[in-house]
Amino acid sequence: MKVCTKCGTKTKHFYSMKRPHCIECERKDARYRMASLENRARGAFRHANRKAEQFGVANDLTYDDVMYLFKLAGGRCAYTGRFSNDLSLEHVIPMSAGGANTISNIIVVDISLNRMKNDRSFLEFIETKYNPYDVAPLVKLLAARGNRDYGGLYDELYEFQREECNAWYRRLMDKQKQAAV
Ligand SMILES: [Zn+2]
Repeated sequence: MKVCTKCGTKTKHFYSMKRPHCIECERKDARYRMASLENRARGAFRHANRKAEQFGVANDLTYDDVMYLFKLAGGRCAYTGRFSNDLSLEHVIPMSAGGANTISNIIVVDISLNRMKNDRSFLEFIETKYNPYDVAPLVKLLAARGNRDYGGLYDELYEFQREECNAWYRRLMDKQKQAAV
């Protein structure tokens, strides 16, 4: 017999005597975690669908895909590897730039990071902000999910990043030209 530190009941129903909560409490917690995960997945799925419609991009994302992505993330942000209570779907190539709403274009990241990143491209962001070696495993993961060739996907992302950088550079030059006039 042992006292559960959550409900205070004295019971012998523990998964293991090392655990602080009784079986009943652990089951309740697991059900709660599952329900909140499902809610988040549903919300994220609807949000992504609305945006896909708004931008008119290719869209084959299903609710099951989103559930799978959240479960796979195991509560961790794909950019930082840290645990987060507020995960969101991140389109590697933004839908505003024609990126598809499909599983091979999506990773799960902390929502604050998603905002911080703004419209910078995925590779640019991760290479300046984090260890560049992080890119290879992430691209590999995305390629596997989408049943795609790693090299092809990397090239596509790289091409996108380069175009973004060029666009950024052009904007900067225009600004300087205007300032010089
Ligand atoms: Zn309990």
